[in-house]
Amino acid sequence: MPKQTTKSNAKRYEQQWDVPSESDRAAYYTVSLTQEGQLICSCWPFLRNRQPCKHIRTVQSGQIAARGQPVAAPPAAPAPIRVSELRLVLANVRCVTPVADQADAVICEVKVPQMPAGNEHFLLTVLHDLSQIGVPWSALQKRYRLPKELTLDWVLQYVRDYGRLIYGPLRDGKFEGWEYLPPEGV
Ligand SMILES: [Zn+2]
Repeated sequence: MPKQTTKSNAKRYEQQWDVPSESDRAAYYTVSLTQEGQLICSCWPFLRNRQPCKHIRTVQSGQIAARGQPVAAPPAAPAPIRVSELRLVLANVRCVTPVADQADAVICEVKVPQMPAGNEHFLLTVLHDLSQIGVPWSALQKRYRLPKELTLDWVLQYVRDYGRLIYGPLRDGKFEGWEYLPPEGV
């Protein structure tokens, strides 16, 4: 067993990021994820206002790897999606397909497939995918006129257990049947 190095901050914070200062390339600010799930920063504007600063926003956007994480790893706190700006657009897509704004990689539009009549597994897959993107359950209940008994937890559990069902490949403007993606592929 390798001897573990003692880090004084390891207990206090779930994760930490070193965000380079914009004005001084050699300087860094430390953004920390507290055990309560809050992101805090060591910069002055944050310490003064306790409002998310640009360093926290940089961490939230996933541009910086956490300490001890490979560079491509996403941060522990997922980048919040600006749900109010999400547009759900009906499209000829095999499954829920987010479209990201090239400039800032924020999802601005979601292409949603036409719902086939009477295919519950397909509907549950669409609900699962949209909720994962950040569409609130209440909005989905309204849009798809879902029965009150159906809960988000149930939908997520269903897809974890049974996988996803999407349209087959598009041929001559029509989808060829279905494609089943088992739980391992979810
Ligand atoms: Zn800051």
